[in-house]
Amino acid sequence: MLCILPAVARPVSAAIVLGHHDVADVDAARIIHADREPGNWLSHGRTYSEQHFSPLKQINDQNAGRLGLAWYTDMPTTNGLEVIPLVVDGVMYTTGNWNVIHALDAATGRELWRYDPHTRRDWIRYSCCGPVNRGLAVWKGKLYEGILDGRLIAVDAATGKLDWEVRTTPKDEPYSITGAPRVVDGKVIIGNGGAELGVRGYVTAYDAETGKQIWRFYTVPGNPADGFESRAMAMAAKTWHGKWWKYGGGGTPWDSFAYDPELNLLYIGTGNGGPWPRAIRSPGGGDNLFLSSIVAVNADTGKYVWHYQTTPGDRWDYTATQPMILADLRIHGKLRKVIMQAPKNGFFYVLDRKTGKLISAKNFVPVNWATGIDMKTGRPRENPARQYGVKAKLVSPGPNGGHDWQAMSYSPDTGLAYLPTNNMPWAYSRDPHFRFQPMGWNIGTNPAAAPPPGADKAPLGGSLLAWDPVHQKKVWQVDLGHPWNGGTLATAGNLVVEGAADGRFAIYRADTGKLLWQQDIHTGALAGPVTYTVNGEQYIAVAAGWGGSVVLMGDHFLPVHRATSRVLAFKLGGHASLPAPPPAAPVPQPPPFTASNKTAERGGKLYGAYCSNCHGFNAVSGGTIPDLRHMTPAIHERFRDIVLGGVLSSYGMDSFADVLDKSDAEAIHAWLIRRANQDYGKTAGR
Ligand code: CA
Repeated sequence: MLCILPAVARPVSAAIVLGHHDVADVDAARIIHADREPGNWLSHGRTYSEQHFSPLKQINDQNAGRLGLAWYTDMPTTNGLEVIPLVVDGVMYTTGNWNVIHALDAATGRELWRYDPHTRRDWIRYSCCGPVNRGLAVWKGKLYEGILDGRLIAVDAATGKLDWEVRTTPKDEPYSITGAPRVVDGKVIIGNGGAELGVRGYVTAYDAETGKQIWRFYTVPGNPADGFESRAMAMAAKTWHGKWWKYGGGGTPWDSFAYDPELNLLYIGTGNGGPWPRAIRSPGGGDNLFLSSIVAVNADTGKYVWHYQTTPGDRWDYTATQPMILADLRIHGKLRKVIMQAPKNGFFYVLDRKTGKLISAKNFVPVNWATGIDMKTGRPRENPARQYGVKAKLVSPGPNGGHDWQAMSYSPDTGLAYLPTNNMPWAYSRDPHFRFQPMGWNIGTNPAAAPPPGADKAPLGGSLLAWDPVHQKKVWQVDLGHPWNGGTLATAGNLVVEGAADGRFAIYRADTGKLLWQQDIHTGALAGPVTYTVNGEQYIAVAAGWGGSVVLMGDHFLPVHRATSRVLAFKLGGHASLPAPPPAAPVPQPPPFTASNKTAERGGKLYGAYCSNCHGFNAVSGGTIPDLRHMTPAIHERFRDIVLGGVLSSYGMDSFADVLDKSDAEAIHAWLIRRANQDYGKTAGR
């Protein structure tokens, strides 16, 4: 077979020209023994233990101050990037928006090939967080990617050509995929999202070679009348009431996995219930298994082994899809094989990963929904004063979580876990007039409810937290001033690397949190960084692009400027420089507001129901999806054609004619014109 790549070097010794069949020839032994080749980053969290830790230490706490930009490669978007790239033998494999895969020379950033799977643009309506994706898996010369519109694809790592493709979600049901697959013993593992839209979550394993389905594990039970797929589903169904299957149920495993090859257990992090209020979803209560749980299944068969539910009967969108880390910790003098997670609900959990038994739990952010975790039962002690009904209650954490999907790392050297935390309380209330809408957002809360006392003074912030999982306590913390900061990387050089919401990319001492180096990269970095070597030289790289769920809600509290989204790589003595970021543009002269205030107010409510999820609360966009106060005369002219006619559907703006009529569209337009007149001349959001 001809070598179609330029010669790339193995990280060790002399360069070897790789033949086609050798490109990205990653197998179980290579991932299991990843520490033997620390110059590579072969799996999402580098290892199956998902520690996001690298043994590399050429860049370390003594010389990190000499770090400089080695190269950057623009992704053709200003939208969010959530991908953790893989690096195999000098080639970086990453994803941009709409699932486009890019293979880059990891030493220079030069693109070797790209593959566009032509993701359905209209599918963006069914996704939470923009056209984002968290990355790839690699196995025996193939790259695997979950596609937003529900496909799983395998691409030849040498040529960028499609190898196989399967549908992993039912066609035309509002599932979406943003999470990275993992490959475990020749099986590609992929989950899905869409709990709020009314789907039933599951994880599927496919043969990595052929794409043939091997097993599927549902995370919540379906209609009992159809029979249960497994004993686990029969058990789970006992914890549900009413006709939950009509709402899908949720429990969607949209991001995290971990794998222990010795125990042959695959760990699945499951999502929240849909709709959020249990009173709607499962009237009569119940734990609603396996929502918001860590579930261990046999990796060969997908059969249930154990579960631990972090938020029984979840009512707050407290997913347990957050990163899970496997480590061996000495606790009370005994070496324990643990799994750790800091899910949205604000508690840091340490479990025995063989049995699922709780070892310890402690809140890592301010929490008011529960007063603690009962060690006898392993259950939270819920705070009755914060139970919301139709009347709104201010609850901490909110649906963005004390910590979300952003990578948590763990350093075996310091024994500390490093994670970005959010302090973002939320006013929850149940919508008394809720009606399920097929293919619609069915959150079941009431955004128009009167805000609870103190909502306007609720704190808002975020930090980088170093947490001791053995003693369940904070060791150091850096206040970042804003929520929604980046995932972390820890290294044997005594470093923790993290991008912040305000565009700072920074390195801290892992043991003390002392700032060692930082650079303004002109956009918020959300994804976890990676580190690798090419020709013996160490690089630290990150995919930076401001976006995700919090940003789509609007940027009224997030003061970041937005450059083009890009992959950046740093090395000691690097001296590349970034172009100046674009200046913030003021709201331009809008058309005069001529409609009635009554019409505009009706439009504002409709905007809240159908538009704000992408274009931002109160028409203030987070900047990745157009800010509608900035509409040009041509867009104003074609407003109805866009909203009802779908003329911009190829850009992701689908027609809403199924839920809005002509007078609705006009009312929304009137409200937007009023908002633009109110903010005329202001720069975005401020
Ligand atoms: Ca959710």
